[in-house]
Amino acid sequence: MSHHQNKDEIFSHDLPTTKLDPKLQAARDAKIQVAMIGLCGCWGCTLSFLDMDEQLLTLLEKVTITRSSLTDIKRITTRCAIGFIEGGIANTENIETLEHFRENCDILISVGACAVWGGVPAMRNDVELIDCFKESYIGCATNPKDQSKVIPYHEDLPKITTKVAPNHEVVKIDYFIPGCPPDGLAIFKVLDDLVHGREFSIPAAMNRYD
Ligand code: SF4
Repeated sequence: MSHHQNKDEIFSHDLPTTKLDPKLQAARDAKIQVAMIGLCGCWGCTLSFLDMDEQLLTLLEKVTITRSSLTDIKRITTRCAIGFIEGGIANTENIETLEHFRENCDILISVGACAVWGGVPAMRNDVELIDCFKESYIGCATNPKDQSKVIPYHEDLPKITTKVAPNHEVVKIDYFIPGCPPDGLAIFKVLDDLVHGREFSIPAAMNRYD
């Protein structure tokens, strides 16, 4: 990344170039567009998406998943009805991606403890950032002994935020699915309800706060 590139150029290499058959493309475009992305998390919530198993197939007549955490493509090219966000905010690139999803999704949903309140990464919020860097790169007991001990820096690297933040502190979030990770059935219920025009609701039995 160099100084003359703007944000769109920086991410343009992420965009798919394969053209679909026009009829297939039209059929996909006619469906409800859903996008997912992972920010600062561990991808455990993405595995919960996969836990929807064959239930998800029942929605595919109505839904197109245009972006998923599995491909990790961080920009959307068509407006989406629903965006799912795994993980919270720990660097400037997370902020740019979250703002892009907010701009391009009608409904934005934080999925999992990291997205909802910061989760495990927020444990660093009690420690000064410089001390986190020192522990990670200088004093870490697992560092190879012969490795030069420097804190990596490059102007093109995303800047680490002083604190880890939940997504709703950066943009408006419409709904929250708690849990670490949430139950796949809870995610399916939310998607199924919204696709069929029902109110957002997660039964207590499906809610997880661990
Ligand atoms: Fe991983 Fe839990 Fe965070 Fe989900 S909420 S990304 S499972 S640490």
